[in-house]
Amino acid sequence: MYEEVVEYIDKNLETSLEWLKGLVRFPTVAAKGQSLPETANMVEALLKGAGLETKQHHITGAPVVTGWLDVGAKRTLMFYDHYDVQPAEPLDLWESDPFEPEIRGERIYGRGVADNKGDTTTRIAVLKAFKETGTDLPVNIKFVVEGEEEIGSVHLPEFTEKNHHFLKADGGIWEFGGAGVDGVQEAWLGLKGIFFVELEVELLSRNVHSSLACILPAPAWRLLQAVNSLKDESNKILIDGFYDGMRPLTDAELAAISKVDLREEALQKAYGVEEFLHGMEGIELKKAYYGDPTCNICGLTSGYQGKGSMTVLPAKASVKIDFRLVEGMHPDDVHKKLRKHLDDHGFSDVRITYFEGYPAAKTPVDHPFVSIVEKANRKVFGDLVIHVTSPGSGPLYLFNEHVPMVSVGCSDHDSRAHSPNESIVIENFRKAQHRIVWIMDEMSRW
Ligand SMILES: [Zn+2]
Repeated sequence: MYEEVVEYIDKNLETSLEWLKGLVRFPTVAAKGQSLPETANMVEALLKGAGLETKQHHITGAPVVTGWLDVGAKRTLMFYDHYDVQPAEPLDLWESDPFEPEIRGERIYGRGVADNKGDTTTRIAVLKAFKETGTDLPVNIKFVVEGEEEIGSVHLPEFTEKNHHFLKADGGIWEFGGAGVDGVQEAWLGLKGIFFVELEVELLSRNVHSSLACILPAPAWRLLQAVNSLKDESNKILIDGFYDGMRPLTDAELAAISKVDLREEALQKAYGVEEFLHGMEGIELKKAYYGDPTCNICGLTSGYQGKGSMTVLPAKASVKIDFRLVEGMHPDDVHKKLRKHLDDHGFSDVRITYFEGYPAAKTPVDHPFVSIVEKANRKVFGDLVIHVTSPGSGPLYLFNEHVPMVSVGCSDHDSRAHSPNESIVIENFRKAQHRIVWIMDEMSRW
């Protein structure tokens, strides 16, 4: 029934790729506040061009772009995307300019093609195809495209709190997704929460000669000792009460994860390790992957890090730590517990800066919208691996009480989101558009 739409998508692939290139040319790095209004304007123009009504919501920070089309259908499909990207550094590891997209072989390279300007484009391109072929949409459409996802969606609650009515939909497609290490498509039903902090110790008025380490305090040692108190060698987080209230995986989720093959060997190869942490494998590995919180060091900084030697006793030291949280945990609560832990262990001089935080959320694995996505995926890609949650994070909790979200997209295991040489396979960019058509079709019969 939608053959004409699908044909239009294929015939106009060049055009949708040009849109993607146009979006990538904006260096929309939220962390640096770059190009945010310009990119928002382009997203809005694309949505308008695809026949949607639009609005820019000027909250603190980057504007949120919404688009909608009410065709009086029984069901409403929502898309959540973001137009911001991660910083492109380290620039010297890129084979081409991160903000000048380049096609090499079957892939298109550039910062944001995978996360998530590519997905945003596929979704808008589908609506354009319906419009241009004069085909009636089988569902109503809503878009929420924000500009601060990569810095923790810090201001998005300002939008969601004022727009509860807009967030109501029967099903939603979240921002990311794609093929796993063996090429099979994967859907993600949830996201872990996050609590991102910087810990800092400053004990001297300036950097001094390292010979004075015999009489002066060393901030770097102090910080290392504080950090070392957070976790033991078995990977257990030692902050008092950290695991309190944490919800374990349900029976339905355990049944779902038992069907998933994490392709352990291929993953080990991809990451260059011979075994996973503590030799975990099988169901034990999966329970940790889907169900465990983390305390990870993202960056550790102090003193001289240039070439050769420089004997210095640095005045300060800092570490950036992210905690991934599972359902039942809240970042504000972990923040309090972290402060108390440091104070109780004699580290009152360690400063905490709280950058971002939000709780975890999941769509139930037996929700009808999950099987709709599965059926639509089968028509285009074949099998779909269902992950009860991603180990990664996103502000799903702001949406999930209004709309069940499933995350499928056009990335693959080699897309290198957040890394140099980010890319997607153009064929996946094309087929992801088809999948959206069939999701709409399946939804109309629900
Ligand atoms: Zn990202």
